[in-house]
This record gives sequence, structure tokens and C-alpha cells, in this order.
Amino acid sequence: MTVGTRGMTALYAKPSGPAARGLLPYGAMASLALASIALTYPNGTRAVDAIDLSIADGQFLAILGPSGCGKSSLLRLVAGLESPTSGTIAMDGRDVTRLEPKDRDVAMVFQGLALYPHMTVAENMGLGLTARRVPTAEVARSVGEAAETLGLTRYLAKRPRELSGGERQLAMIARALAQGARALVLDEPTASLDFGNQVRVLREIRRLAAQGYAIVFSTHDPGQAFLAASRVLLLAQGGARRQGTPAEVITADNLRDVYGVEVRVAALEGVRVCMPVL
Ligand code: ADP
Ligand code: MG
Repeated sequence: MTVGTRGMTALYAKPSGPAARGLLPYGAMASLALASIALTYPNGTRAVDAIDLSIADGQFLAILGPSGCGKSSLLRLVAGLESPTSGTIAMDGRDVTRLEPKDRDVAMVFQGLALYPHMTVAENMGLGLTARRVPTAEVARSVGEAAETLGLTRYLAKRPRELSGGERQLAMIARALAQGARALVLDEPTASLDFGNQVRVLREIRRLAAQGYAIVFSTHDPGQAFLAASRVLLLAQGGARRQGTPAEVITADNLRDVYGVEVRVAALEGVRVCMPVL
């Protein structure tokens, strides 16, 4: 199997499956299972090394680790933008390993992906649907529902530059929802946001998980994984990894191993927090 980088535009082609008809109904199930998934780039870099993971309905997985540990590569595999060197990916029990991005009910929100400045928020959100010639009324309905879900209704007629960074990030998530994705893959969705917007984005992502979307997001911030994920996959360079609940995975010992710094992990009013030791 060749390892190829497929174009982003492929995401905007027509997906098959029930989700193609619109938003996932509340309470519907979506699950994701990766078995021994590995990716070696043509230059020989082993970016993903035999990872197993499964996300059930309503679970919400954070991929945590330092730069270069393979977070983006793993997310691109899930979205179908890379073909694995070995291993399988299943969604809702269906093997999607060899399917094109358009044939998976997965949408990826890229790190730093911009909205088109000359289009309104609504036009940006509907882009994937109009590109596959979905009737205008149906596009408006899907976009309206996705905007409603993320509290963006009042921004639909605005241009991206009139939105804050956090609102733009939410609009990109809304664009993925409007495409009818059942699983969302978000590459460092909070990385370029200020504190308040990070919190808003994490809150919305967690709410979507509670509605039954399978969600995988990456972060290099252990505190965010603690706050917003039900499962954590901790990656380090060289393929080492740990997987489990945030409390199992995010420990001072593990963070020292992966990041090489001392962190104190403590419970504060029932919430676990990570405090670096300077
Ligand atoms: P992260 O998102 O955690 O920073 P990446 O998945 O981007 O990590 O990268 C993992 C490893 O794979 C790094 O060593 C990186 O240099 C390498 N890599 C990423 N993309 C490519 C590519 N297209 N070709 C070759 N090597 C790559
Ligand atoms: Mg990355």
C-alpha cells in the first residue's frame, strides 16, 4: 500500500451513509476503532507506530503529546487523508481503512485552517455541501442547525474577520458538522486561542461528545486533556504511549517521561489540575 497525502478538497465531496442527510440526531451512536495502525512516511519517518484505540459513543479522546510525536499524522489517518502502512480503522463497526475521506463520516478540522474571507460565515459553513450540489434549501437547513448547535446563529451573515478567534474556530467546527460528519477530528483546536476562547471551544466540543459524536482532538496541554476528554492517549516520540482515563494517564511520572519536566498533579475542588514545577 502506498502512503499518499490526499487533498483536503476531497473532504468536501459527497459522503455516503445516513449522516450525509444532515446532522447526527441527538443520542445517535458513533464509534471509532483503530487496530495496530501504523504510518511510515516515504522518507522513512515512522510517525505512528502500531497504535490501538477505540472510542465508544459519547467518549471524547484527547491525543496528548509534544510536537513531533505524531498527533497530526494519527488524526490524518482517522480522517482518511493518509493511508496507513498497516493496521485497520473501523467506524461504527464498518472497516473504513481503504475508503476515501469523502466516503467516511469523519470531518477533520485542521490546525490553523482559515475560513474564506470573502464569504459569509454561512457560505463558508455550507461550502462542502454546495460543492456537492446539495439543494440550497437543504444546505440552509444543515448550516442553520450546525450554527444553532454551536451558538453561531447571529454570526451567519457576517464575514470571518468580524468574528473573534474562538468564534472562527467554532465556525470551522460548525462547517464540519454541517457536512454531516458523525466523527470529528480536531487538530489542536485551541492552540492559537486566548484563554477564554480555549474554554469556549473545549466546552462546545465536550457538549458535542455528549450528543453522541465521536470526537478526537489533539493538544499538547495536559490541563486541557484533563478538563475536556473522557479518554487520553499520551504519545511520545519513538512510539511510546499510554492510554486510559485522564486520571490514569496524566500523572507526574508520565508527564516527566514524555515532556521531560516536573509537573505536580493535584485535585482542586474535585477537578484535577497540572502545575508545572519551575
Ligand atoms: P505532531 O502533530 O505531534 O507535531 P506530526 O504527526 O506532525 O506530529 O509528525 C510526526 C513525525 O512525522 C515528525 O517526526 C514529523 O517530522 C514527521 N512528518 C510529519 N509529516 C510528514 C510528512 N508528510 N513526510 C515525512 N515526515 C513527516
Ligand atoms: Mg501537529
